[in-house]
Amino acid sequence: MSGDVPENAPENCVGPQSEQAGKAAACEGCPNQNACSTGPKGPDPALPLINERMTGVKHKILVLSGKGGVGKSTFATNLAFALSFDENVQVGLMDIDITGPSLPKMTGLEGETIHQSNSGWSPVYVTDNLGVMSVGFMLSHPDEAVIWRGPKKNGMIKQFLKDVDWTGNGDGTSGLDYLVVDTPPGTSDEHLSAVQYLKESGIDGAVLVTTPQEMALQDVRKEIAFCRKVGVNIIGVVENMAGFVCPNCKGESVIFAPNTGGARKMAEETKIPFLGSIPLDPRIAKSCDLGESFLDLYQDSPAYKAYTDIIQKIRAHVGDTTPVAANGA
Ligand code: ADP
Repeated sequence: MSGDVPENAPENCVGPQSEQAGKAAACEGCPNQNACSTGPKGPDPALPLINERMTGVKHKILVLSGKGGVGKSTFATNLAFALSFDENVQVGLMDIDITGPSLPKMTGLEGETIHQSNSGWSPVYVTDNLGVMSVGFMLSHPDEAVIWRGPKKNGMIKQFLKDVDWTGNGDGTSGLDYLVVDTPPGTSDEHLSAVQYLKESGIDGAVLVTTPQEMALQDVRKEIAFCRKVGVNIIGVVENMAGFVCPNCKGESVIFAPNTGGARKMAEETKIPFLGSIPLDPRIAKSCDLGESFLDLYQDSPAYKAYTDIIQKIRAHVGDTTPVAANGA
């Protein structure tokens, strides 16, 4: 997919700049077929602009999952919160889950809107050093459904990468230490677009989030195959909801039994790093619903320890050995 795709383009539009523009199977019957087949071809003109915007982003991390509901957005949010504990570290959190954006709610920013300035779109800030960008900020109501076709979704991702001014300094550079990208479940057009647009300026890698059941692990294997195919380094896999620690008696039970050995065994078999397991903790879900930072609020919980150990490993992977600790921890 490349180039600015018209709104009325078919689902599998190859983009006006593609060598296949006007000739691909999806072009049959498209009102733009003639214009596309005769128009100029070549690399997407947005790429240099995206590269320029991204040169100031030191680390880009994609958060992926094979299935929905495994805790990917929760992990992406807590990763961003944890990275921003250090007030000298500038963090951006971006939602490219266009049809199911959850970051505004999870970060306590529901109802906020994006502002536009001469230097681009301004993210919405949780704190001075944590900015969030989500299509959720563009909806008039949180229950509004986004039913965009592939080309329009890709156009939005491109615009997010090209037009967001992460520091608001107006000089067109991003100046971020970390950009955490929350993606939709599975491997879709959105993943391909994000990889295509970010690859030239460098992606540090992907963190894969799963639950322990074989049903979820099966889909993670597809995610691994996707990353290998498109050349994205895998930072590792995180096993979420791996056990339940009762907040009252502190006893641990296994809710989703890992019948095939869980994520650790799958990681060994597929030769990817296993980053750790996060237990089920109802306070995680509550913090998400209330838009609060779990890691700030529950530092004595096993889940806090699990999260911070995992996030420490992710930081080490990108060459950053600063300890991860919430204020007061
Ligand atoms: P995904 O992004 O994979 O679709 P979410 O991050 O939206 O999944 O998580 C789905 C639900 O599970 C949310 O309500 C979230 O708060 C909850 N959740 C995620 N991780 C945990 C956990 N470790 N313990 C308890 N609830 C969790």
